[in-house]
Amino acid sequence: MSEDFIIDTETGIKSADIEQSIEPLPLFNELHPMLAQTIPKFDVSGLPNSAINILIKRLKMTMKLYSGIGLSANQCGVLQRMFIIGSGDDSWACINPEILETSADLVYEAEGCLSFPGLSVRIARPAWINAQFYNERGEQVQMKMEGLTARCYQHELDHMNGVVFTQRVKPVALQMARKHQQKLIKKFTRLHKQI
Ligand SMILES: [Zn+2]
Repeated sequence: MSEDFIIDTETGIKSADIEQSIEPLPLFNELHPMLAQTIPKFDVSGLPNSAINILIKRLKMTMKLYSGIGLSANQCGVLQRMFIIGSGDDSWACINPEILETSADLVYEAEGCLSFPGLSVRIARPAWINAQFYNERGEQVQMKMEGLTARCYQHELDHMNGVVFTQRVKPVALQMARKHQQKLIKKFTRLHKQI
């Protein structure tokens, strides 16, 4: 792997560290500038390799830890154009993800993001997509996705382009969702103090 494998200077994670331990990665919140960055294409010619396998394993662990159904590498300080989708032990990596075809939009009432705890918003996105990406073995995969999987893939693909889901919501709707988020955070903090 090249030296630009990890760029985050705050956490100090270097590419060598990725292979040294197999632990969950730090999860960055919405304020981290890496979430606003467009991630350059990944060079798939070097796949498969152990660094990517370990990175994917760690991303999957992180996603599972936070009970997520999608997690982009840049949410964990890793500047690579890839994300994990799925749930529990049934999750997979999408490298250099693209969308070849989409259906008409469908509104989903409660889209969330691991970098925005407690925030859920109403967003319209295509109901199904024809996705194309590379897997960790460097093989090109085409997959028709629908339901939550399609939703998740599109949300994570936005992360690859420095776009977060709040940018897809009208200001008034976002303001209401933020109020609800604050209530949830307060409630959670109160409960947490009681334990
Ligand atoms: Zn997200």
